[in-house]
Amino acid sequence: MVVYSRGFAPQNILTKEEAEEEKRFFLENLPVLLKHQKVVLDNPKYFFSLPGSFAFGSWPYIPGDGPVYTGYLLLGWQSGGLLEHCTECGGSIYLVGVGGSPLSGSGSCWGPCLECGEFKRTFEKLSDKMVCIAELRQNHPVEKSEWVEEDGFEFCWGGGGSGVGSGLSPAKKKRLVRRQLVEPSDFREMIVKLNEFD
Ligand SMILES: [Zn+2]
Repeated sequence: MVVYSRGFAPQNILTKEEAEEEKRFFLENLPVLLKHQKVVLDNPKYFFSLPGSFAFGSWPYIPGDGPVYTGYLLLGWQSGGLLEHCTECGGSIYLVGVGGSPLSGSGSCWGPCLECGEFKRTFEKLSDKMVCIAELRQNHPVEKSEWVEEDGFEFCWGGGGSGVGSGLSPAKKKRLVRRQLVEPSDFREMIVKLNEFD
C-alpha cells in the first residue's frame, strides 16, 4: 500500500488566547514588516523567521506544504500570488496560510486585512495559493541536502584490503544529509530590530 502525504500538521501547542494574541501581534506589526521588507529579504535570519503558528500550507497528495516563513510571505505578496481581495472593504488580504485538498478544491486560505484590522478567511483559487507556497518553499529551502563523505569500509573480492583474500578495506562512503542553512530569528525579536530602522 502506498501512503500518501496527509498534509503538514502544524504543532498546535498554543491555547486559543495565545493563538489570538499571536495573530494580533502579526496584524499590528504588518505595516513595519511591509515597510522594511527589503531588510527581511536580504537577511536569511529574518527571511526564515516564522511569523506564527498560523503561517503554514497544508494539503495532501502532492509535496511542498509546510511552514510559511516571513520571506515567503513577502515574496508571495510582491508577486500577488498570496494576495486576495477583501470582500468586506475592498482592500487586500495578506494571505499567510492555506489548507485544503488540491483535488477537490475544498479548504480555505487565511490572512489579515489591514483595513478591516482582522484575520479573514477566503476560498478563492486555493490551488493557485498551494502552487505559490510550494514553489517558494522549493526555491528558497531552509535546509539543503548534500552528500558528505565519511570513513567507512567496503567489501573487496580477493586480494584487496589488509586481510588475506577477500575482506573489508577502508573506503570513503557517501551519505546524503539534510543541513539547516541558517538559524532563523525569533519573529518578535526581528520586529524589534526592524523598528530600530525607523
Ligand atoms: Zn477588509
